[in-house]
Amino acid sequence: MIKCPHCGLERDFKELKSWKFRFYDVKLFECPKCKRKFNHYYGVSPRSGKVSEFVIRIGLKKKGPPF
Ligand SMILES: [Zn+2]
Repeated sequence: MIKCPHCGLERDFKELKSWKFRFYDVKLFECPKCKRKFNHYYGVSPRSGKVSEFVIRIGLKKKGPPF
């Protein structure tokens, strides 16, 4: 289960698209509650062998600082 980083909703989200980034499987999700999008990264580090999983918020407000 994935948690929306914008509003905290926890559920299975609709996957808009997916791709590979280095050793990660990246998926783009849209939250049905707040309508904002985020990327979910999931992969196993080739160095440590540990599972690495995190989300990155995208589609932030225009007035926010650039990242
Ligand atoms: Zn949300």
